[in-house]
Amino acid sequence: MNPLVSEIARLKSKNNAVILAHTYQPGEVQDVADFVGDSYGLSVEATNVTSDTIIFCGVRFMAETAAILNPAKKVVLVEPDAGCPMADMITVAGLAALKKKHPSHLVLCYVNSTAEVKALSDICVTSSNAVAIARQLPSNQEIIFVPDKYLGDFVAEKTGRTLILWNGFCPTHACITSGMVTQAHEEHPEALVLIHPEAPRESRRFADQVLSTGGMCSFVKNSERDEFIIATEIGILHTLRKQNPAKNFYPVSDTITCPNMRKGSLASIRNALEGKGGEIIKVPPETAAGAERALRKMLEMSEEKSYSDKAGILGTSGDMLKSLMEDKKKEREL
Ligand code: SF4
Repeated sequence: MNPLVSEIARLKSKNNAVILAHTYQPGEVQDVADFVGDSYGLSVEATNVTSDTIIFCGVRFMAETAAILNPAKKVVLVEPDAGCPMADMITVAGLAALKKKHPSHLVLCYVNSTAEVKALSDICVTSSNAVAIARQLPSNQEIIFVPDKYLGDFVAEKTGRTLILWNGFCPTHACITSGMVTQAHEEHPEALVLIHPEAPRESRRFADQVLSTGGMCSFVKNSERDEFIIATEIGILHTLRKQNPAKNFYPVSDTITCPNMRKGSLASIRNALEGKGGEIIKVPPETAAGAERALRKMLEMSEEKSYSDKAGILGTSGDMLKSLMEDKKKEREL
C-alpha cells in the first residue's frame, strides 16, 4: 500500500477532517475520500458534514459551495490553482448587464460558477436537477441560463422553453464530437452510450441516455445491461468500475480529460491535512449570503421535485415558488 494512504488516514483522524472528492478526480484520490460524488451530491454532502474540516478534492467553485453551505467549518481546497474555465467565462459585470436588459427574467445558474455569479442569480442548478427545476417554474416565466450554453440547451430541449443562454461551455465536454460517439458505438455495438449534458447537442443526439455523473452511476447500477460507453471526463470510469466490477466500461475517447480535475493527488491531500498546502476557502460574507440564497433554493426545489415526482406532478412547487417570485418583484422595485 502507498504509505501516503496510511499517513492521510492518521492525519484525517487527528484533524477531525472529512475528504470530499468529485468523480472526475484521479482514482487514487477517490479511493481515500469519505464521499465521492457529482456537484449535486457534494453540495448535499457538504450540508451533512459533522467534522471540523472539509478537505476538498475538486475545483474552486465546488470548494466555495462547500464553504458557503458550512460557514462554521474549515474548507481546504487541496490544489489552489484548480479552477474551472467555464466558471471563468462569465463575469459579474456581464451578468448584471444581461439582467438589466431582461429585468423580469429569472436567472438559473449552473453550480459550475463563481460565488459572485451565484450571488447575482435566483436559483442554482446542477446537471442532475436543472431540467426538473426549470419544469417547476410557470410556463410563462422567462429564464436566463448561465454559464453553460450546452446544459442550457439541454434544458430548453427537454422542457420546450426558450431560454436566453450565456455563451459559456466546458472545454472538456465541448470536445466530445458526434464522430467520437458513433465510432465508439461501432467498436462496441452492444454498449449503451451515456453522455453528459455539458456535451453539444449534435453529440448528445447519438447517445442512449443524457445524464449527470451521479445519474450515470445510478443508471448503471440499476441497469440490466453490462456494457457502457461513457462520454464524460474519464475519471468517472474509476468510480463506475469500482461500483460495478462485473460490467464493462469504455471511454468515448481517452482524450476527454479535465486538466484542473487531474491536479488532485495523494501528496496534495497530505499537504492540506498538514497545513502545508492547499488553501482555506473564504467567501466574503455578502457574496456568501447571496450565493447561499440561490443554493438553498436549489436544494429546496430539488426536495420538492422528489415529492412532486412521487405525486406525478411537476407543475407547481407551492411556497418555494411563491417566495421566489416575491424576491424577484422586490429586486425589480429596488
Ligand atoms: S470538467 Fe469542465 S466544467 Fe468541470 S471543472 Fe473541468 S472545465 Fe470545469
